[in-house]
Amino acid sequence: MNTTSVSISFFDFERNNMKNKFEAFHLSPEIVKALSTLHYMEPTEIQAKVLPVALDGKDLAAQSQTGSGKTAAFGIPICENAVWEENRPQALVIEPTRELTVQVKEELFIIGRYKRLKVPDLFGGFPIDKQILSLKQKSHIVVGTPGRLLDHVRRGSLDLTCIKTLVIDEADLMLDMGFIGDVKQILKELPVCQIMLFSATLEDGLQELMQECMKEPVTINIETHVKTVEKIEQSIQCIPGDEEERAHTKYHAFLNTLIRENPESCIIFCGTREMANVLCRKLGRDGVTCGVLHGDIEQQDRLRTIDGFRQGKFRYLIATDVAARGIDFPNLPLVLNYDFPTGKEAYVHRIGRTGRNGEPGKAVSFMTESDIKMRQMIEEYIHLEIPETKIPEVTEEERKLFFETQKEKRKLKKRKGAEFRQSIM
Ligand code: ADP
Ligand code: MG
Repeated sequence: MNTTSVSISFFDFERNNMKNKFEAFHLSPEIVKALSTLHYMEPTEIQAKVLPVALDGKDLAAQSQTGSGKTAAFGIPICENAVWEENRPQALVIEPTRELTVQVKEELFIIGRYKRLKVPDLFGGFPIDKQILSLKQKSHIVVGTPGRLLDHVRRGSLDLTCIKTLVIDEADLMLDMGFIGDVKQILKELPVCQIMLFSATLEDGLQELMQECMKEPVTINIETHVKTVEKIEQSIQCIPGDEEERAHTKYHAFLNTLIRENPESCIIFCGTREMANVLCRKLGRDGVTCGVLHGDIEQQDRLRTIDGFRQGKFRYLIATDVAARGIDFPNLPLVLNYDFPTGKEAYVHRIGRTGRNGEPGKAVSFMTESDIKMRQMIEEYIHLEIPETKIPEVTEEERKLFFETQKEKRKLKKRKGAEFRQSIM
């Protein structure tokens, strides 16, 4: 069984390779072949605009909606330009979270696989000795979080002398207060190199840094955050009552929404780690299995949870904002904001986990009196009034169907690049 499916997909990509539209960018055959294996047969809009500029070595700042393929937009040029013979890192990619570091590393690894590029990832909460060992071997492209990257620079285990390109992903967040110190420090350590900024929410605040550090950056703006969320069907449910009543009413509103939608999968955002744990236990008692993702959970478990959710081992993922940015879950039909977001960008990034790459998406946010201000800020930011809907009342039949669905055995999805992994084996 297995062998047949492998050989068919292998044949498929050999054939498709002939008409992969990425060829128009004069990429090396190894890169085009890898893109075909990923089923990237034509560039997304942002990729089509970024590739010529990036391949040309120019500095750039690119903004496009969540899920539009920004990773490959920088991944393809840095893999294309990497020289295998050079042992020292030639490109550096900075990511805000460990999860994103791993996700981006995997995509770069696949794109660069036929060039045999080494892509170590460096993030905290993982033994530094092992990372030092991997850096001692060839490492063409390094992906990491700012703190750990700096740690390696200070220890002398990360050699930045040959870096030709720096990518700052989720740039607006990276240049925000929490990270800016570390990022500036890294910039100081780097030789003169190409700098590329990417985000779905690149706002004016970046101008200063762009003027300070970049050479005549090309700005590429596909769609603003307004466009980003237009394609997602959004609504708000207002939770009445005082604090005590609210907790109960909110759970009721939330569970009924989940029952009504009965989505194949869904991310549920909570404001705090405690709330995420509480909600998970509550749902568990009601017979609904979930995964939880937040900063208190061990690194290995966090990665395992993301992987399990991608494969569809469980339907629902309860998360704090650690999962709001960048993390890619294909075919996610619904996002629920159990707790209302506390920042306007956070709203865009949270709901941007759905409706990716042209797929349909829906987002429901539960709000209380104290969220009124934030709601206004968000609506101004996205130029859209989010319609209010009533708390749904569900029928016995809907309820039955929902709980029956929970008991169904899960059919696991293939992981991204699965055929690829098989084909190189
Ligand atoms: P962003 O960083 O813009 O939020 P990602 O880089 O995470 O988006 O990509 C979103 C999804 O689109 C991923 O599942 C990725 O595999 C897919 N994708 C990216 N480029 C292409 C392409 N050219 N063709 C098909 N799918 C693509
Ligand atoms: Mg991204």
